[in-house]
Amino acid sequence: MPTTALYRDDFYLSTCEAVVTAVNEDGSIEFDRTCFYATSGGQPGDTGFLERADGSRITLDVTRHGATKDIILHMPAEGQDLPTAGETIVMHVDWPRRYKLMRMHTACHLLSVVCPFPITGASVGEDESRVDFDMTETIDRDAVTKELMRLVSENHPIFVQWITDDELVANPGIVKSKNVRPPVGMGRVSLVCIGEDSAVDSQPCGGTHVSETQEVGAIHIAKIEKKGKENRRFRIRFGTPDALA
Ligand SMILES: [Zn+2]
Repeated sequence: MPTTALYRDDFYLSTCEAVVTAVNEDGSIEFDRTCFYATSGGQPGDTGFLERADGSRITLDVTRHGATKDIILHMPAEGQDLPTAGETIVMHVDWPRRYKLMRMHTACHLLSVVCPFPITGASVGEDESRVDFDMTETIDRDAVTKELMRLVSENHPIFVQWITDDELVANPGIVKSKNVRPPVGMGRVSLVCIGEDSAVDSQPCGGTHVSETQEVGAIHIAKIEKKGKENRRFRIRFGTPDALA
């Protein structure tokens, strides 16, 4: 059964009430609505817990999509009690973890502004993220960090604009990813815009992001690796380079 993905319209929603619509054979749980982000576009799905009416908790380890994008499966940790269909529960996202992922994910967008090359892959992590670019140029790591921190400190607003799948297909130029498929298939696509009137950037993305660049905080490029002749892998970490030296 389709699940209403509340996180698509509110990145800061960490808790919500929901009704269990199915408990599948593999133990995965479906709800009428959810604030748990499902693994997609390089951003890992949310973890957290369910709070039942009697106060007991069910820990959730994994959130992912089912056979189609509108199906969202919540996988409990091993050995947990399972709820029953029709039960109303309160969902709680592990917010400190998700907020770090939102900051990191936003940092990846900023990196794609500083390095305007086609993206061939990306993976968002709590402590480190990586973005792969199709580029042959050698680029100075500290100069990239400096440009990233300039965008952070300028505190640009970040907002979402919705366009239809057809509009995206008609404007292929707005897609920066080479191999990463834009989040089509739901009828509408979210364009993540940075800066007043998208002055800094806009690109299709279904992930969760912070609402101002300053929220990203201190970040730096920890490493730039050469992966083949035309591929460069950038690793982003939190904190200042000096703090790690
Ligand atoms: Zn994004």
